[in-house]
Amino acid sequence: MSDDKNLKTPRLEINLHKIQENARILVENLAVKGISVTGITKASLGCPKIAKVLLSAGVNALGDSRIQNIMRMRNADITAPITLIRTPMMSQIEQVVEHATISFNTELDVINALSESAQKVGKNHGIILMLELGDLREGIMPEDIEGIVSKTLELPNIKFKGIGANLACRSGVVPDAKNMKELSDMANSLDAIFGFKMDIVSGGNSANLGWALKSLNIGRINNLCLGESFLLGLDPLTRKPIEGLYTSAFTLMAEIIESKIKPTKPWGKIGQSAFGKLPPIKEQGNISQILLAIGEQDTDPSGLTPPLGMEILGASSDHIIVKADKHSITIGNKISFKPNYAALLRAMTSPFIEKCFIS
Ligand SMILES: *Cc1c(COP(=O)(O)O)cnc(C)c1O
Repeated sequence: MSDDKNLKTPRLEINLHKIQENARILVENLAVKGISVTGITKASLGCPKIAKVLLSAGVNALGDSRIQNIMRMRNADITAPITLIRTPMMSQIEQVVEHATISFNTELDVINALSESAQKVGKNHGIILMLELGDLREGIMPEDIEGIVSKTLELPNIKFKGIGANLACRSGVVPDAKNMKELSDMANSLDAIFGFKMDIVSGGNSANLGWALKSLNIGRINNLCLGESFLLGLDPLTRKPIEGLYTSAFTLMAEIIESKIKPTKPWGKIGQSAFGKLPPIKEQGNISQILLAIGEQDTDPSGLTPPLGMEILGASSDHIIVKADKHSITIGNKISFKPNYAALLRAMTSPFIEKCFIS
């Protein structure tokens, strides 16, 4: 608990040293396997400070899903290659060509538009074609990819860079020897058909780490796009800590605005609350209840871990309600939480949360 009057609350304290160490360790361990790392910045709104830390830790490129975040990094004089990791919107083609080095693609119409726009400004744009491997988010069905590679190769100012896949996002499909071999085999077969050796075979995201670090045969996979693992030090498949990484790079601090002894059970006739149905209440008699000035609008309250001895009882748009211990009930005091990915994502995006960097 901190009572520093100069620091604004609520705030997200971001330890850049821990993020850098996490990135350095993962980059080193994957380099041994011949895998390069694209540092994904989308969970931090393309925060230039975090991007710079990832670059100094040895990632060979940056990646983000939103063109606005990429532009934010470009405005901060980041000249490293940046990949747009969501297939471009037709309405943003010009910005994509201007600011992103490469984009992930699945639609020929989009690649055609990228080519036209790139010709107009005399630039080249790199394309990675995403292959559907079963998670049913983005990706070209395997039987269609050869035709799309063939058409992509014909387009002016378009550079075909390779193929990629993304698992464990929509459906939680686990990256394993079987689906990664499918991606590898596809790279080999396309190379043979078209007579080149593609640069990039991107295996996926942080959920691939378990496979990549343990597998004795990674095949053609030579790139991963990592975000959550740098930031939180967790394996997204299990949300368990990855050995040797910090899991405490982010702390969310919120301020106590009410502190009272209250019963645990509400009274009156009960309907739905502001955010729908509620879990059953555990009767605990009278408790020390504190109200924090932070809510659903600022973070995902269900993704916060409170300090030992405290319990999050509920939340609304602007409040989180906590069962406190005896020592943390003074108005104006700050309570610190550990955010999960969802809580971090929302806190990073909230204009009400101060971002506070510690090195
Ligand atoms: C978000 C995203 C990543 C990074 O995922 P993490 O789990 O944060 O490592 C990688 N690839 C794609 C296509 C993504 O959308």
